[in-house]
Amino acid sequence: IVDPAPLPEDEEGRVEAALRPKSLAEFPGQPRVREQLSLVLEAARRRGSTPDHILLSGPPGLGKTTLAMIVAAELQAPIRITSGPAIQHAGDLASILSSLAEGEVLFLDEIHRMARPAEEMLYLAMEDFRVDIIVGKGPGATAIPLELAPFTVVGATTRAGLLPAPLRDRFGFTGHLDFYSTDDLRTILRRSAGLLGVDHTNQGLAEIAGRSRGTPRIANRLLRRVRDWAQVHGNHVVDHDAAQAALALFDVDDRGLDRLDRAVLDALCRRFAGGPVGLSTLAVAVGEEPDTVETVAEPFLVREGFMVRTPRGRAAAPLAWEHLGLTPPPGEQW
Ligand code: ATP
Repeated sequence: IVDPAPLPEDEEGRVEAALRPKSLAEFPGQPRVREQLSLVLEAARRRGSTPDHILLSGPPGLGKTTLAMIVAAELQAPIRITSGPAIQHAGDLASILSSLAEGEVLFLDEIHRMARPAEEMLYLAMEDFRVDIIVGKGPGATAIPLELAPFTVVGATTRAGLLPAPLRDRFGFTGHLDFYSTDDLRTILRRSAGLLGVDHTNQGLAEIAGRSRGTPRIANRLLRRVRDWAQVHGNHVVDHDAAQAALALFDVDDRGLDRLDRAVLDALCRRFAGGPVGLSTLAVAVGEEPDTVETVAEPFLVREGFMVRTPRGRAAAPLAWEHLGLTPPPGEQW
């Protein structure tokens, strides 16, 4: 329930679409990126040209897709949505690029996962609005240039560091999305509760915001589960008691840690005396794959100061002991 990636439920896709803010003015949080984007878009509008290509980077669920849609809406331009893994051949990209209307926004999610030949075609297209279609093979092959209508690429990536430099350099503006403050999450929740027609109290929303790991997607998902609880067991109001009871039922504690997070900390403290311990040993101790521990639990635990990565393995930080109500052994921990 606290996975920042979208869950493969139909409901999630539909509800997410309904909850997306539609303009920059309606978009809470990320004040810096919002201001930067607003300037880039306004200047382009006044020049009557397409803006520079835009790269949005940051962890999942923080609003990259939402902002891409807002860019198109602010430019009053159509948007074409695709993703890096869907473009495995240069031909896939050529057919998308050649069918774009003038001024159209091309949203490329997970742009770091695009195949190499397509990536190379994209450099040229972004710079010169042209692609070279290769006809034939071997020494007889010829490149036929194809002019494209000007368009704007909005790329999104969770791993900006994985983008090859030539591709990164083609973006005139990069916006870095950061985790949201509890106040911003409360604003987002108030808006979502209004759109979903859910009665709520400020304390109820504050309780959910504090457990949402700085991520709007998680906040909206927790809100829906608390609404369910309030409907079935409560008085149909998302209040403090409903939030506490529902989130306890779904194993999300007061800092937003779920069952796996707590199992990892518990193993680190109780079984390995605080560590350091290797990732695979730790994963076996909690009955998960090392990859799951590393990509699902670890980023949040490290960011929040519960766990540290040392050259000799993972170790529990003082906050982990405190959170589990345990006393760390005396002396230097790691
Ligand atoms: P991913 O990388 O997984 O595609 P993302 O960064 O593109 O995630 P979005 O799909 O844009 O994230 O947002 C996820 C959900 O969070 C959506 O339902 C969206 O409505 C909501 N959301 C994100 N940012 C905000 C915000 N600033 N205000 C209100 N809702 C937001």
